[in-house]
Amino acid sequence: MHDSAAERRRMVDSQLRHRGIADPRVLAAMEKVPRHRFIPNPEDSAAHGDHPLSIGSGQTISQPYMVALMTECLRLQGDEHVLEIGTGSGYQSAILAELSRRVTSVERIPSLADRAREALRDLGYLNVEVFVGDGSMGWAEDAPYDRIIVTAAAPEIAKPWTDQLGEGGRMVVPLGDRWGQTLTVATKHGTKLEYERICGCVFVPLVGEHGWAEE
Ligand code: SAM
Repeated sequence: MHDSAAERRRMVDSQLRHRGIADPRVLAAMEKVPRHRFIPNPEDSAAHGDHPLSIGSGQTISQPYMVALMTECLRLQGDEHVLEIGTGSGYQSAILAELSRRVTSVERIPSLADRAREALRDLGYLNVEVFVGDGSMGWAEDAPYDRIIVTAAAPEIAKPWTDQLGEGGRMVVPLGDRWGQTLTVATKHGTKLEYERICGCVFVPLVGEHGWAEE
């Protein structure tokens, strides 16, 4: 049995601090949340590796650095309501749950949503709700949101996301084509969005009304 707390400490030092993640709350959440509990085989020695990992159904849990970077970009203070699009394993949802008041997360694949719900419940995260649906339409029932995080590659900022984001709210989205994207932060000022480009990235595609057709 490996010491997962020690592996997380190493992951935070070598993959995150070393690469410039500086928000102490983000670093503490990444050190606390048991990443191995969100992957299909918790004993997998690759659980804390510097790369994404398969979670089945052709989907992935993102690389730890990308999870930390996207979370840092949201600038969470603790009282926000966050919409996550693409629950996947539920790991990013748990990090958000540590750092905000409430998380609404949407996943299109029911079996992944079920597994994520179970992991989040077993770990006692009561401020996260996981819904099955097309997150390219956002999740109008619980809007408005203070922050939106999209964890699949999007061809555009979908209009429902902008409509469901509150004034002054921030969203972080991998924007581009199926094969390569730019991690982008968009901040809402009235009817306008102000864009900031962060870095290149590669995510699995957003499939749906404002995304791509299923292959
Ligand atoms: N945040 C996840 C984690 O921590 O494990 C990683 C998410 S994975 C990179 C992207 C997820 O987006 C996949 O689970 C995929 O099924 C989901 N997805 C793709 N299109 C979607 C859509 N239109 N609505 C909701 N989820 C979608």
